[in-house]
Amino acid sequence: MLASSDRMFTRPAGANRHPVIKETMAVSTVGPQRKSQLLQRFSSVAGLDAQTSVRRENLIRALGLIARGPDPVTRATIARQTGLTSATASSLVAELIDLGLVAETGLAASTGGKRATGLEIERRSYLILVAVVRTRGIDAVLVDLTGRTVASHRVEVSGGVDIAAVVDAAREISRGHEARLLAACVQVPGVAGGGIVVESVQLGWRDVPLASIVEEALGAPTSVVNDVDAEALTEAVDAENGTVRLVVHLGEGVGAAVTTGSTLMAGATGRAGEIGHVRVVFEGGRTTCRCGLSGCLESATSMSAMLGDAYTDELDAHDTSLLASTPESRERMGFGARALSRALRIVSALIDPQEIVIAGAAQALGPHFLGTVRDEFEMYPAKGTSPVRIRYGRPELGKYLGPARYALAPIFGDALPLTAEGKVAPVSPG
Ligand SMILES: [Zn+2]
Repeated sequence: MLASSDRMFTRPAGANRHPVIKETMAVSTVGPQRKSQLLQRFSSVAGLDAQTSVRRENLIRALGLIARGPDPVTRATIARQTGLTSATASSLVAELIDLGLVAETGLAASTGGKRATGLEIERRSYLILVAVVRTRGIDAVLVDLTGRTVASHRVEVSGGVDIAAVVDAAREISRGHEARLLAACVQVPGVAGGGIVVESVQLGWRDVPLASIVEEALGAPTSVVNDVDAEALTEAVDAENGTVRLVVHLGEGVGAAVTTGSTLMAGATGRAGEIGHVRVVFEGGRTTCRCGLSGCLESATSMSAMLGDAYTDELDAHDTSLLASTPESRERMGFGARALSRALRIVSALIDPQEIVIAGAAQALGPHFLGTVRDEFEMYPAKGTSPVRIRYGRPELGKYLGPARYALAPIFGDALPLTAEGKVAPVSPG
């Protein structure tokens, strides 16, 4: 499909040919054997005998307790919170340590008797690869089991990103760390489901079995996720179980995603959230959309529709704010905010979210745009619906936590929160 990947790569002047290692990745004792042992241990394939299956569930529960803290967790905490015997709790911890997932820290604070040994997630063992495929390049990073990005690598591609470029970028960043690479996630603009890129208009791809291609190249289980879904998963890193959240992405296009807790609602064909080409403008002032129809949400509310053709998804927040400060942009933003709030009103009446997050590049539009969306939303309250908080996304979360968690979900479920800070508020039972 590609004669020479080198020809496709244009590297910006001064860019490193090699991945930027942000901090020293400590040498780990984890080897290929231990990794395959771990993957086998946590495999959820049907047909596990009951005992193995219960043990796996208990390992995941213990791992989740250690990861979520907030105080240093001990073997006694695990026994208490799971209702298992201390002998079983100790044996679970021994296995987690043996697999390289958990380390002993110093002594935990005394609860009266002898001070017990604290436990924490072993940062130095395994890594997760996240590759974010953009229309003009690829960002590949390695994330540790607490969510910290430990290495990053950016590739700019001219003439369109192809599959070989994704595989090359993933290989480049993970070189030398293959034995520690536990899982990978590739994020793409387009419809993705079951490891397959069903359709990406932006990339010109259709029915690409990307997960299996990358998985074979890396030797690690790989998932594929849509870019707006990934953004919603990142916003959901600290979501409590059961929190329903609608995330709307504003960029060159418009998309949405719904999460419950930290789980994505994918829809029957992986297309849940494809809201951009729903017609919401019926009166005058509607313009032709890039899909060929007119009055689509995207034709009114995309960043390009509001800020003009000078906007691209590669712009930084500062330049985007500048574009948003002109009188023409202001007027179009007012129109866009009204169209958006109309769409949000209908969707939120359907799904009853606690929160609506306007993400993507939208934060650079400033408080006025958000205020207009909120005002318009409140102006026509739908009888019988609850008030909904509307806010901007949190760019400070970065863009890798959601995809990294998505990569780990088939192995550990939701056990590792990957909040980068390590500990978050305990998740309420559900
Ligand atoms: Zn359209």
